[in-house]
Amino acid sequence: MSAAAQQPSAKQRLVMKFGGTSVADLDRIKNAAKKVAAEVERGHEVAVVVSAMAGETNRLVDLVRSVGPLYDAREYDAVVSSGELVTAGLMALTLQELGVPARSWQGWQVPICTTDAHGAARITSIDASAIERKFAEGLHAVIPGFQGVAPDGRVSTLGRGGSDTSAVAVAAAIGAKRCDIYTDVDAVYTTDPRVVPAARRIERIAFEEMLELASLGAKVLQTRSVELAMRHDVVVQVLSSFGDPIGSDLPGTIVCAENEIVENKMESNVVSGVAYSRDEAKITVRRVPDKPGVAAALIGPLGAAGVNVDMIVQDISDDGFTDMTFTVGLADVDRALAALETVHSELGYASLQTDKDVAKVSVVGIGMRSHAGVAQSMFAALAKEGVNIQVITTSEIKISVLVDRKYTELAVRALHTAFGLDAPTAE
Ligand code: ADP
Ligand code: ASP
Ligand code: MG
Repeated sequence: MSAAAQQPSAKQRLVMKFGGTSVADLDRIKNAAKKVAAEVERGHEVAVVVSAMAGETNRLVDLVRSVGPLYDAREYDAVVSSGELVTAGLMALTLQELGVPARSWQGWQVPICTTDAHGAARITSIDASAIERKFAEGLHAVIPGFQGVAPDGRVSTLGRGGSDTSAVAVAAAIGAKRCDIYTDVDAVYTTDPRVVPAARRIERIAFEEMLELASLGAKVLQTRSVELAMRHDVVVQVLSSFGDPIGSDLPGTIVCAENEIVENKMESNVVSGVAYSRDEAKITVRRVPDKPGVAAALIGPLGAAGVNVDMIVQDISDDGFTDMTFTVGLADVDRALAALETVHSELGYASLQTDKDVAKVSVVGIGMRSHAGVAQSMFAALAKEGVNIQVITTSEIKISVLVDRKYTELAVRALHTAFGLDAPTAE
């Protein structure tokens, strides 16, 4: 990432990102464009980052998969990156209709440079100088999220939900005072408000907590966008794209450094949020010899195949043999099983068993650093609802459990209540 740009003009810069539902049709694009016009009216230079229209990326991914399962990731990127190009052009046109001078850019035109990991690329640098020259001419920028250009010169995409990451990266590159993420909820909540209606709005949340919530499944922000914001100290605000409010009135959730939220009431809660992910699968390797080096020999080939292993548990030894269980992303199961097959003769395990009907439910809170007993309260709350725990992992500020997928919502609700997060009910 290039250093925060010099800003010769007195104008402050803003990034305004609109997700898929917020640009789902021309009316919504117009509503979003009005918000941009209002920020321009307040004297900002604006870089708008847009997602594809709601449902469009799914449609494009399905088209690619329908051609054949073993697709070329570079062609996948060529197809799925197109959704954002359409909304960028439409947004620029709509802004022009409202009298706001604006032009659209494609990822390579900026350029937004990425690694060569097509389909899951990381942004390596953004040269914002061309955009800045256009700012100086009074022209606001509309940039398609989710895409960049790989070292081979071909279009790349950043993984699902990647427009958040594009927005934060652009904010860092142009030295924006804030990156406003407009979406279909009006804040970050203590859990997904679509699962727990009693979820509470969070006014301010620390980068570390947001990072854990995002990586554990709260898709309101892509994990890498939070990582980038933390590294480059970009203030991020999550707010609703519906209705009239604009970011400069600070109606949403501010994601910021921990020391900026000392007064936050949420800190009095040991647990500040509950997240879940249904994108999990459990693999058990039956009867592996229980000897040094076996775990490395099993997990190594998975890493080499690009499979991320998350939770790991090993049973106690029985006759010199043991069972190893771990979780991988649902989309990675076939690749994981193929990688394990390659070490079958070497390790001589008895069998592989896969369970796709699982979900990971997690509690997160920086207050856990200084409070004991959270695990006990979590297990008790789940036991009370009859939810069996299959695997457990912990870190300094989170505890995750793997449960039967049909209990996901029950578990999330039970934990939200048990940790005192439910909003008070109106009398
Ligand atoms: P966009 O298309 O704008 O990027 P996403 O669908 O990616 O929007 O993210 C917004 C969704 O994130 C919400 O609709 C909500 O269901 C979900 N979500 C999950 N966890 C949370 C949370 N803790 N707070 C707010 N929203 C959450
Ligand atoms: N359109 C892409 C997706 O649906 C990127 C994004 O919306 O953030 O994953
Ligand atoms: Mg998103």
